[in-house]
Amino acid sequence: LPTRRVLMEEHTEKKGRLPIGVKGRKQKRIVVTGGAGFVGSHLVDRLMERGHSVIVVDNFFTGRKENVLHHMGNPNFELIRHDVVEPILLEVDQIYHLACPASPHKTNVVGTLNMLGLAKRVGARFLLTSTSEVYGDPLQHPQAETYWGNVNPIGVRSCYDEGKRTAETLAMDYHRGAGIEVRIARIFNTYGPRMCIDDGRVVSNFVAQALRKEPLTVYGDGKQTRSFQYVSDLVEGLMRLMEGEHVGPFNLGNPGEFTMLELAQVVQETIDPNAKIEFRPNTEDDPHKRKPDISKAKELLGWQPSVSLREGLPLMVSDFRQRLFTDSKLTGG
Ligand code: NAD
Ligand code: UDP
Ligand code: UDP
Repeated sequence: LPTRRVLMEEHTEKKGRLPIGVKGRKQKRIVVTGGAGFVGSHLVDRLMERGHSVIVVDNFFTGRKENVLHHMGNPNFELIRHDVVEPILLEVDQIYHLACPASPHKTNVVGTLNMLGLAKRVGARFLLTSTSEVYGDPLQHPQAETYWGNVNPIGVRSCYDEGKRTAETLAMDYHRGAGIEVRIARIFNTYGPRMCIDDGRVVSNFVAQALRKEPLTVYGDGKQTRSFQYVSDLVEGLMRLMEGEHVGPFNLGNPGEFTMLELAQVVQETIDPNAKIEFRPNTEDDPHKRKPDISKAKELLGWQPSVSLREGLPLMVSDFRQRLFTDSKLTGG
């Protein structure tokens, strides 16, 4: 396999090995795969604020350079266009592994394997952003980390669910077998500024539709539930998990539970009370309900979300408004 070698100048004399992984050293070298994406770019902002040296590895499949543009030229920041399905050599203390496209089997399996191989070679700590989808269409409500899930292995969305389940298995194998320090987060539906406008997730769909004066598309009867977390709460949880002593998995999500019809109503209240609702057939295997039990994260990470849907949504709306109207006018698009 072609191997991409990205060594920082200082390492070269030291047999490719820095005094990295030194416990307690404040400024760390951190790689964020998928760092040009929605969650990744917010995480990068916080890590840069803390004075860390951050390398973003992203193939721009769904991510955008604009999301990290404000760090360009900062000597603590580096952006590498790279597909994690290909091996990569870096010297880092921590790996936040977020890279993941929409149909993500190869990235979740081969990409995660490569990042674990990297963690093993340099002794870095590895954090996997897994998902609440590992619980499938759950038979336990709310879902605790002890629940093994109800996933259809051959269903239309199983490449995502099973891809992340495999990634969790790989992480635990490397933890037990190679002694890698791993951390596993199971992320529940997250929204906020910089979210992809057209990737079909429900919050981005409803917000974009209301702003464009289109009807909000509710799939099925709209009685299925989800729990929506604001991105800054998630990023805080990811950083606490990385810095803490517990492997996990940890649910990171907001326990506030909404039906899709209730969500549509909040979007109407926030953007346009006259926005229409249009029902569409639902997709196959759509989970009926989802809500995190976050007792474990509360107890062991001292973490809980602080931004409610009604507080967070307006912050996302201003970003979407800007990107949908101002930016496109400026670029003539
Ligand atoms: P996103 O699509 O905005 O970010 C993913 C990033 O990974 C993008 O920048 C994309 O270009 C990059 N990427 C994809 N495939 C890659 C590859 N092969 N090599 C390098 N880069 C690649 O998505 P997000 O919402 O920011 O999600 C981040 C992580 O959190 C993902 O692992 C996702 O599965 C997980 N997650 C997110 C949510 C949510 O609601 N946002 C929920 C559960 C889990
Ligand atoms: N790998 C990588 N960067 C590294 C070290 C490893 O991308 O710095 C990749 C490597 O190419 C392999 C995967 O990670 O495909 C797993 O590595 P590991 O050493 O665990 O397995 P092996 O190469 O022994 O099969
Ligand atoms: N959904 C909807 N209208 C849309 C997009 C999605 O009603 O325009 C529903 C979808 O059927 C699902 C829920 O919203 O029940 C959440 O979908 P999303 O894709 O955002 O997240 P996930 O299903 O992965 O939790």
